[in-house]
Amino acid sequence: MTNFTKSMFESIKETLENQKSGGGFKNILKTEVGNSYIVRLIPNIKNPGDTFYHYYHHGWNSVATTQYVNAICPTTWGDRCPICEERLKLYRIGTDEAKDKASLLKRKESWLVNVYVVKDPKVATNNNQIRILRYGKQIDKIIQDAISGEDASAFGASIFDLSENGCNFRVKVEKNEGDYPTYVSSKFLPKEPIEGMTPQKAEQICSNIYVLDKLFETQDYEELKELLADHYEVKAPKAEAPKAEAPKAEAPKAKVEEPKTEAPKVETPKAEAPKTINEVNEIDEADEKLKDLLAGL
Ligand SMILES: [Zn+2]
Repeated sequence: MTNFTKSMFESIKETLENQKSGGGFKNILKTEVGNSYIVRLIPNIKNPGDTFYHYYHHGWNSVATTQYVNAICPTTWGDRCPICEERLKLYRIGTDEAKDKASLLKRKESWLVNVYVVKDPKVATNNNQIRILRYGKQIDKIIQDAISGEDASAFGASIFDLSENGCNFRVKVEKNEGDYPTYVSSKFLPKEPIEGMTPQKAEQICSNIYVLDKLFETQDYEELKELLADHYEVKAPKAEAPKAEAPKAEAPKAKVEEPKTEAPKVETPKAEAPKTINEVNEIDEADEKLKDLLAGL
């Protein structure tokens, strides 16, 4: 075996192993405030429509264990989500307390894309490797603009081109006034070659990308209901909350399946729920925009 084919084999093997275990997760590029990362987006040549993975998710600190729990929201693929539904119930109660509680269950929106890392200023082992860039709305807007918006004539297909005719993407992580990381200054750069890139290498890279929609384990409706019961709807009075360290098993498995006393009106016809859940999501998005706006002042 020549070196080339050997390394090709190794990287194919690694990719397969990662994908088998959902371990691709660890290949999500970590970006830290105060740094800029240079990457080149990698297209999914076999299935161009899968170049990006757009998904929704929930995450909060468990009321039972205080550890962060998270889950992919089934609305990602158009199914009902008990977490969104719980949030809707709380919104309908309408009190500040209920809304506060609901905010923990907020639905977040993210995207994934395979990238070739040209320069990671913090982790050198990421350089010249395929990693996954996970991002939110700010970067999505920049990418959308480059694909079909006002920057399309300057960039367009070149953002997916690994050759010297392609453009790098610079992910710039700054901190806004509200102390949150902000990515608004990220941008595509003028066309330039990637050091050491050859057409063969580009081909090899394109055939070793991560399968983005297999990255996360997903849970069905019942499993997510259980997650809520275990980590959110813990009925214990607040004073008891710091019982935190208690192992999961102890978390009152009291499956609070039925709405607590506060929410008798919950019985919305199922068919109607998703529509109103969208409305709640819009409220959340408006909140988010307001927060961004305030942070930017
Ligand atoms: Zn959801």
